[in-house]
Amino acid sequence: MCEQKPLIKTLNLKKEYRVGTTVISALKGVSFEIYQKQFCMLCGPSGSGKTTLLNLIGVIDRPTEGAVLLEKIDVAKLSKAKLSEFRLRNIGFVFQRFYLLEELTAVENVFLPAVAKDGFSQDILKRSRYLLNLVGLSKRLNHKPRQLSEGERQRVAVARSLINQPKILLCDEPTATLDAESGKIILDLLAKINSQRDVTIFLVTHDERQLTYADKVFRIADGKIIK
Ligand code: ADP
Ligand code: MG
Repeated sequence: MCEQKPLIKTLNLKKEYRVGTTVISALKGVSFEIYQKQFCMLCGPSGSGKTTLLNLIGVIDRPTEGAVLLEKIDVAKLSKAKLSEFRLRNIGFVFQRFYLLEELTAVENVFLPAVAKDGFSQDILKRSRYLLNLVGLSKRLNHKPRQLSEGERQRVAVARSLINQPKILLCDEPTATLDAESGKIILDLLAKINSQRDVTIFLVTHDERQLTYADKVFRIADGKIIK
C-alpha cells in the first residue's frame, strides 16, 4: 500500500525554452502526485515534454512557472549548494545513454557518485560490488564500458544510480537503445528494485508495451497530461 503523503508533487509546472526569438512551450501546466513505492510511468510521443518534466523533477533544470515538491520541500527554495546535496542524497538517474566513464571499470563507475558524496572507503567499494551483483554483473566488476554489451552497460548505470541509496529513481527511456531482450532485463530489474527496496520509480517512455510494469500511468501529449 502507498503512504498518504505524495513523495513527488508537481504544481502547474510550465517550461518554456527560448531559442533566438522563438519560444517553445514544452510543458503547459503539469500537476500530479507520485506516492512512495510507486512504479510510475509517463508515456508520450517524442517531443511531448517527457525529458523536460523528468529534468524538472530531478532538479537538473528549473521551471518557468509552477513548483516541484519533493518530500514536501519546495526545491526552488533550496540554495544551489543545498540543491546539489539534496539531489545527490535523494535522487538516482538512469538515462537513455548510459554516461559511463570510458576509462573507469564497472565497479569504479558505480562508486563514483558515492565517492563524490562521502570520499572513498572500503564500505563504498563493498556496496558497489554488491550492486553489480544485484544487476547480474558479478563477473564484470573490472570490465571497462567498451568491454561490455549495451545491455550490460545500462545495468552498470542502474547499479550506479542506486549507490547513494536514493528514495527516488528517475529513468529517461532507459531501454530505448537496447534490443528487446536486454530491455526486458532492465525493466525486470527496475521492478525488482522497486518491490524489494524502498525506491520510488518514475520512468518516462514512448513505448506502450512497457506500461504493464507500472502501477501508475500518466500520459503526456504536447506538454499536457491527458486522461
Ligand atoms: P520528449 O522527451 O518527450 O521527447 P522533450 O522534453 O525533450 O520531449 O522536448 C519537449 C519540447 O521541447 C520539444 O519540442 C523540444 O524540441 C523542446 N526542447 C527540449 N529541450 C529543449 C532545449 N534545451 N531548448 C529548446 N527546446 C527544447
Ligand atoms: Mg526525451
